[in-house]
Amino acid sequence: MPHQGDDRSSTATMVTQKMRALWAAAIVALLLLTLAGVLAIPFAFESPSMWYKFGMEKTSLRAGKMLGLTAGLLIFLQLPLAGRLKPLDRIFSLPGLIRQHRMHAWAIAILALIHPLCVLIPEGRLIVPLEMRYWPEWIGVGLLVFILSQFVVSRWRQSVGIAFHTWLRLHRIAGLLVAGLLVVHVLYVSESFSESGLPRLAVAVAAAAFLLLWLWVRSTRLRMRRKPYLVSRVEPAGGDCTCVELTAAAQTLFSYVPGQFAWVSFESAAVVPEPHAFTLSSTPSRPMMLQFTIRACGDWTRTVAGLSIGDRAFVQGPFGRFSHLYTDPDRELIMIAGGIGITPMLSMLRFMADRGDPRPVTLIWSNRGKENVVFADEMDELAAKLTGLRMIPICTRIAESGERSGRLDWKTLEIMLNGCSRRSAVFVCGPPQMMRQVITDLKALSFPARSIFSEVFGL
Ligand SMILES: Cc1cc2nc3c(=O)[nH]c(=O)nc-3n(C[C@H](O)[C@H](O)[C@H](O)COP(=O)(O)OP(=O)(O)OC[C@H]3O[C@@H](n4cnc5c(N)ncnc54)[C@H](O)[C@@H]3O)c2cc1C
Repeated sequence: MPHQGDDRSSTATMVTQKMRALWAAAIVALLLLTLAGVLAIPFAFESPSMWYKFGMEKTSLRAGKMLGLTAGLLIFLQLPLAGRLKPLDRIFSLPGLIRQHRMHAWAIAILALIHPLCVLIPEGRLIVPLEMRYWPEWIGVGLLVFILSQFVVSRWRQSVGIAFHTWLRLHRIAGLLVAGLLVVHVLYVSESFSESGLPRLAVAVAAAAFLLLWLWVRSTRLRMRRKPYLVSRVEPAGGDCTCVELTAAAQTLFSYVPGQFAWVSFESAAVVPEPHAFTLSSTPSRPMMLQFTIRACGDWTRTVAGLSIGDRAFVQGPFGRFSHLYTDPDRELIMIAGGIGITPMLSMLRFMADRGDPRPVTLIWSNRGKENVVFADEMDELAAKLTGLRMIPICTRIAESGERSGRLDWKTLEIMLNGCSRRSAVFVCGPPQMMRQVITDLKALSFPARSIFSEVFGL
């Protein structure tokens, strides 16, 4: 049964656009201020090595230190970016933060490579001498090796054939090691950070903050265990998908917005207890049950059908801003889903049906074949309940009676979206290649980029 009081819980989790923009501006300003402070260190706290350098040599040495310090700041920022922190998700959205995490990795690798060159060249050498007194520089060499290996392995993990969960575990340990080596390197390599100076104090504060945040992030699992859920239903949902439903073991309601996702792990004889990200395909208007619709596409998802009723589950979230509730309430909606990318749309449509939302919605849903369609019966029911819903199923593999066939391209989209307002909020979720093509076509069809919202099923 739909729950009447849950709009509160949905809207309560929403930060207004204005507040969000203010918070984002404040955080960016704080970061820029910190960067300015970090870049000022080689000027305001010159080390003796700089006193005897002039011209290009001094510039190179100073630039090297500035690059190294910028890389250090970015390394410290990697934890809040990837740490699945809810307050930051509300402002920037977690998928966006993870994208930044990846882009920062490029910047860190490049800065870390240039930094030693700029510092060593003015000294007339390219290699750190093998002498005991240069131990902080050798820590720096180790740090560089760690940073570059971590970058290469993360970037080319699949080509190297490392499973995601193995990589994630190593990546987290390496991240902590890099932060530790960085602190030792910075504190002992330059006299700018000599005892009792302000830069040394700043590094100590940053290191303490990093350690506390790391402990908080790593203890998430323990906190999740305090609010367990129980598997209440496991059923085939069509194609290679399984529908898993959870109910809270304690009297706690999980507050979320339709379209959001969460990390779920299970305590089960059939499934390894590692957390994976899934959209909540249920609707917050029926808050007693959480539903995930999971496509078997890898070693972990293939085991999910083996879950048993009563297995314990742990949910971390919700995350993301992929929801019609984050757009104006009177806006026409367009939803374009590929395969299992239907799950966030399903949650939004279920919510709208419970609310009796009459606004026009065009749902284009592309599947390989009819046998891949999930919740086929319920989709028909939703179409009957939602007076504004226009559903356009398409089939990419074979033409079946009553269905369009072929891939979504500019021409088909133009025909399907003919008559839709260009002010519509457009939601796109599906395989990455399809999403890229659809978003390019939508822009070519004069849908503004700021009205197109997308969710990628891979972080
Ligand atoms: C925001 C979001 C929402 C999603 N919603 C759904 C959904 O509703 N239904 C659905 O079927 N799938 C969904 N996915 C995809 C789902 O998370 C992956 O299919 C699943 O984790 C694959 O696990 P695997 O080990 O079986 O596959 P693998 O082949 O081992 O992994 C495939 C890819 O999944 C990702 N992945 C694997 N393990 C993890 C992990 N422990 N943590 C994070 N990512 C991991 C990695 O990008 C990896 O490359 C969603 C993903 C994201 C990011």
